[in-house]
Amino acid sequence: MATAADTIAFQTIPHPAPTSEADRTAMLANPGFGTQFTDHMVSIDWVEGKGWHNPTVGPRGPIALDPAAAVLHYAQEIFEGLKAYRHPDGTVALFRPEQNAQRFNRSADRLAMPHLPEELFLGAIDAILSVDGGWIPDGDGASLYLRPFMFANEAFLGVRPAKQYKFLLIASPAGNYFKSGAPAVSIWVSSDYTRAAPGGTGAAKCGGNYAASLVPQAEAIERGFDQVVFLDAVERKWIEELGGMNLFFVFDDGRVITPPLTGTILPGITRDSLIDLLREEGLTVVEERYSIDDWQSDANSGKLVECFACGTAAVVTPVGRVAGRDRDFTIGTGGPGQLTGRLKDRLTGIQRGQLPDTQGWVRKIG
Ligand SMILES: *Cc1c(COP(=O)(O)O)cnc(C)c1O
Repeated sequence: MATAADTIAFQTIPHPAPTSEADRTAMLANPGFGTQFTDHMVSIDWVEGKGWHNPTVGPRGPIALDPAAAVLHYAQEIFEGLKAYRHPDGTVALFRPEQNAQRFNRSADRLAMPHLPEELFLGAIDAILSVDGGWIPDGDGASLYLRPFMFANEAFLGVRPAKQYKFLLIASPAGNYFKSGAPAVSIWVSSDYTRAAPGGTGAAKCGGNYAASLVPQAEAIERGFDQVVFLDAVERKWIEELGGMNLFFVFDDGRVITPPLTGTILPGITRDSLIDLLREEGLTVVEERYSIDDWQSDANSGKLVECFACGTAAVVTPVGRVAGRDRDFTIGTGGPGQLTGRLKDRLTGIQRGQLPDTQGWVRKIG
């Protein structure tokens, strides 16, 4: 089968001194999250009037930036996150990568950046996997996390969309996102901070959203919680999402609620996939607003039986305890619920090639 990389000529510059087999094996044995990187990276440049050029896969290393590079001043930056899996038959697979390519361009629109053609986005992934495919760990829950990103590198201090950008793709072997190994995460409801306001950048995957989430996330950690949950910026009442994960609420009558995509939450590909899988199971999934007060009273009455957060990095993670100013409650048993566990097994089974890909989500590489 022809791959995107066959049609777009990426220049390959092999690493002069790649990591030794022994070192790599040691790194892959306990990869953690986001601390180890493969030998190569993909780089593509964009300049106004010329468009995308110079697609290269070469040694990973520091990049030169002019101190006036626009990204350093006005934060024109977007990114994506997806995983490559080693299937039992030895092939390498991606999960709905075209969705990441499309979302990347929606984020680019919001940040006034150029589109990266889908074939180039997918070709970049093929290109890095062709040189760093040996970096996909095969432990339980392990994968090679791929981080495509784009930023403004034009040296100009005036405020306007930049006329020069760089796209890079780096790869990082990953184990479980939550290293605590706890059966469920605890969540702190932020009352002083919001993540996104109507008309803002909440639906774009941009670094700026994360910068704004760090203080509230640190506050959650300081209080002994794993994650922060944000409420809407207008009424401070409706549950939106965590710093980097979408939320689902499961009720005793089989109904499932997830907050709607109104522009202030990130449209997760995991979220979208789980909605499909839940509906396939015959459950009723509604995308509607759910308030923090209802969350507490439904958890206390037992009407709410499970709650989970989801995203590429952390997959499906049960939420056991929620607290905030004037509230503290437990959901179900405080541990992982049955539906949450089943969904996680189903999704990861499809991603890892252990269950049939009934939805046509898996894209094999090579
Ligand atoms: C990336 C991200 C998610 C999850 O999206 P997936 O496509 O499922 O990985 C959720 N919320 C935020 C803020 C994100 O940046």
